[in-house]
Amino acid sequence: MIIGTFPEETSEDSSEDRKGKEKQININTHKGLWARCDNCENTLYVKFLKQNKSICDECGFHLRMNSIERIELLIDRDTWIPMDEDMTAIDVLDFSDEDFYHNRIANSQEDTGLTDAVQTGIGHLEGKSIALGVMDFSFMGGSMGSVVGEKITRLIEYATHESLPLIIVCASGGARMQEGTLSLMQMAKISSALQKFQVQKKLPYISVLTHPTTGGVTASFGMSGDIIIAEPEAYIAFAGKRVIEQTLRQKIPDGFQSAESLFDNGLLDLIVPRNLPKGVLSEIFELYCLAPYRDRQKR
Ligand SMILES: [Zn+2]
Repeated sequence: MIIGTFPEETSEDSSEDRKGKEKQININTHKGLWARCDNCENTLYVKFLKQNKSICDECGFHLRMNSIERIELLIDRDTWIPMDEDMTAIDVLDFSDEDFYHNRIANSQEDTGLTDAVQTGIGHLEGKSIALGVMDFSFMGGSMGSVVGEKITRLIEYATHESLPLIIVCASGGARMQEGTLSLMQMAKISSALQKFQVQKKLPYISVLTHPTTGGVTASFGMSGDIIIAEPEAYIAFAGKRVIEQTLRQKIPDGFQSAESLFDNGLLDLIVPRNLPKGVLSEIFELYCLAPYRDRQKR
């Protein structure tokens, strides 16, 4: 199956699609021909930007990527098998602020072509089977509601059962406030599933923190990786800078919550540029997968 296609949509679509071409979901992070770098504000030609894995060729800043681009970056061609693609959120609390929650979900689904803020599945990374979860910031700021929590938990449970290594690529504004406590409890649910995966089964979990990873995602599975990797200059935080400053009533330095600062303070294992991760992840798994084998040998 080709990454980024919904076969069920293809079958219902116009004659063009019926000619044998699968429909690609149109979720370009940078719509149109030109994009602007968030860091140096240089104007970038989207075609070249995409070829360069959304890295600014002027300053090297890693611009935001959507989940489909991430899966294409990490998974060998034609090996991706998605899981729980049809799971969608229910507005249990009948929540509204400036807009109704059910409207926000519908709008995000239309804009992104996704059902919620994470894609999960299995695929090959340099020939090895892995379980992969990729969050998508373009769907309601990558917020973690009950669907995100349930999909990630099921992915971990599947990986535990099938003894697959696990990678989760994080990009999130934190918990989804429109779901209240239901959103918060996903942190504990995912962490419990990870505990079985990592401690009981001794399987490797690598978390990849991308710009931005914040709130409940940082506080649960984001920082639970056996190896924690971040992209250069990614903003990684629990509470935002403004909240900390208001609580402590003091200024905090610039760059305090950047990947580089976290690395200097021992909270990350590696900072890996986006053009290298496949090779790096594959090498880590090769080394790491020997560990449970050695452990069994001692008994
Ligand atoms: Zn730039």
